[in-house]
Amino acid sequence: CLSRFYGTGASVQKDDPGFKGHDMLAPFTAGWQTTDVHPLIIEKSEGSYVYDIDGKKYLDSLAGLWCTSLGGNEPRLVAAATAQLNTLPFYHSFWNRTTRPSLDLAKELLEMFTARKMGKVFFVNSGSEANDTQVKLVWYYNNALGRPNKKKFIARSKAYHGSTLISASLTGLPALHQKFDIPAPFVLHTDCPHYWRYHLPGETEEEFSTRLAKNLEDLILKEGPETIAAFIAEPVMGAGGVIPPPATYFEKIQAVVKKYDVLFIADEVICAFGRLGTMFGCDKYNIKPDLVSLAKALSSGYMPIGAVIVSPEISDVVHSQSNKLGSFAHGFTYSGHPVSCAVAIETLKIYKERNIVDKVNSISSRFQDGLKAFSDSPIVGEIRGTGLILGTEFVDNKSPNDPFPPEWGVGAYFGAECQKNGMLVRVAGDTIMMSPPFIISPQEVDELISIYGNALKATEERVKELKAQ
Ligand code: PMP
Repeated sequence: CLSRFYGTGASVQKDDPGFKGHDMLAPFTAGWQTTDVHPLIIEKSEGSYVYDIDGKKYLDSLAGLWCTSLGGNEPRLVAAATAQLNTLPFYHSFWNRTTRPSLDLAKELLEMFTARKMGKVFFVNSGSEANDTQVKLVWYYNNALGRPNKKKFIARSKAYHGSTLISASLTGLPALHQKFDIPAPFVLHTDCPHYWRYHLPGETEEEFSTRLAKNLEDLILKEGPETIAAFIAEPVMGAGGVIPPPATYFEKIQAVVKKYDVLFIADEVICAFGRLGTMFGCDKYNIKPDLVSLAKALSSGYMPIGAVIVSPEISDVVHSQSNKLGSFAHGFTYSGHPVSCAVAIETLKIYKERNIVDKVNSISSRFQDGLKAFSDSPIVGEIRGTGLILGTEFVDNKSPNDPFPPEWGVGAYFGAECQKNGMLVRVAGDTIMMSPPFIISPQEVDELISIYGNALKATEERVKELKAQ
């Protein structure tokens, strides 16, 4: 029985005589885990649940990796993929050849994104490729405009933008940089907008946002505005710990980037399509981006696909360059893959038909309020979130300055307790992240809250024991 192995580091067991490790160099997995701990092998999914190979059922509180928005067995997505596979399983979009699904999806995305008028859509296969594409597009654009020095990017500490060389450089998490010789020198990082952790004594959220905007402006001035090409931000930071922006943050940041002719890239890979209770994160925070990155819920995670939405100003410049520089020489074999596009089109159709934003808003207060009710726990520093995304941070003495010793594995213990009791959460150190499928029912939210509450109680006991030792 594999279900006794938790795989989160809390309960390492090597007592199955048949277990010899596995052959994958696995993403975001420690080497010792692949040799010492049975992987959790997921075999089947159904609605908000997944099942492992022993048949054990788990409430999937992270929707895979923040992506299976329509849950684990939406038949219409399977039918869309099957129909496309039966008609045209593959054709590319190079050299002005393309397919109907990619054309239809581009049109649909431009219609759906209403925070400001956009120009064109470029298809990729992932969020990382979307953000790498952003950098190349911005450089191409500035080269075309005769601004060869305007090439630096500003991202934020704790941002997550992907794991390819450039997107990992934009990412502001040290673990993604160490031993990989990144970040690239053209990437700068500015403050993480986490009010609870970083505000000064007595500073209001608005004052905190003003200070961060001033720091951004100082950084731009120090580097020289003529060298800064773009600023990139997730509307709500995801993998860095689920960090919603403090009041007035994006208003003030946008004023600064606009002042210095710095492009704004909205990384909507997690936030888009309803996650925050608005169709896009940009709608929620009144962001008027020049470029947008999409992936994940674009296809409900059923097929790999991402997209970059480009403002008319940028797409016009790219367009006008073709006579001088030749074609826009960037793209992937699977850019606009017809099966992925067909599934994405069906996904967007379902979002519309089922009023997915209303659906998220009808359930989000049950989810947010139910979990935030645990904020008084002595081991909880902060429970934060909006819509269907939430982060919990465990600290001692309710203070961001008093982390638990990492060797105590407080977050991992909580994650293992959840897993034991039939729920999968994301654990990053002592931060727990959740982003359930949009289709989660009220009963399932109650179950999620109940498992969370029990795991919290067990973790409080564990911390008491560790303190007593
Ligand atoms: N941007 C954001 C905001 C993300 O959360 C992620 C993935 N978690 C990415 C980019 C990278 O996407 P992918 O893993 O599809 O490359």
